[in-house]
Amino acid sequence: MTRGFYVGRFQPYHKGHHNVIDEISDSLNELVIGIGSADKSHTRRNPFTAGERYVMISRAVEELDITTHIVPIEDIDRNAIWVSHVQSLCPPFDIAISNNPLVIQLFQDTDVEVREGPIFDRSRYQGTRIRELMIQQEKWEHLVPDPTVEAIHEVGGVTRLRQVVESDDFNGQRE
Ligand code: NAP
Repeated sequence: MTRGFYVGRFQPYHKGHHNVIDEISDSLNELVIGIGSADKSHTRRNPFTAGERYVMISRAVEELDITTHIVPIEDIDRNAIWVSHVQSLCPPFDIAISNNPLVIQLFQDTDVEVREGPIFDRSRYQGTRIRELMIQQEKWEHLVPDPTVEAIHEVGGVTRLRQVVESDDFNGQRE
């Protein structure tokens, strides 16, 4: 029985994440999906709340052939104890999968097995690009699993992102 751990901000969850999870699932029995930066929302970089991201992910992974546990994880000020923080919140896991150099380093420093995950068509699937398409009122829906599109529309996510950006611009805070 091997349980893996995969973390991302998922702002929003997109087909790149979905394909990565589908692919890594082949070598795992269960997967813990950590919603990183769970304390962040309503900003250009992090428009969606942890609860909204939970719904986006949980509906999309229903079609995958793996048991998943989705755990929101708030950021903390001390990187040195972030892995313990993650472990205190999640079901026990045997291996972490990440492409983020800091995340890889932190797991290595605490002797947790970590391996790099696959990258799926990165030029097409990028959270930053999808958020920009939403802001510019261009088509983004084809880049995101259908259940996630529905979850974003249910919370008025696109309108919120545009309002957040307008507010940031008004206040002179461009992120
Ligand atoms: P991230 O900051 O969400 O993503 C970094 C970049 O990597 C993004 O451009 C992301 O793309 C991309 N990416 C994510 N998964 C990928 C994949 N499989 N292949 C290629 N690119 C990929 O970082 P993250 O690694 O996804 O998530 C790490 C989370 O852990 C963050 O929420 C971070 O705040 C948290 N963390 C917290 C602490 C602390 O609190 N001290 C320490 C370490 C990490 P998309 O934008 O398309 O998703």
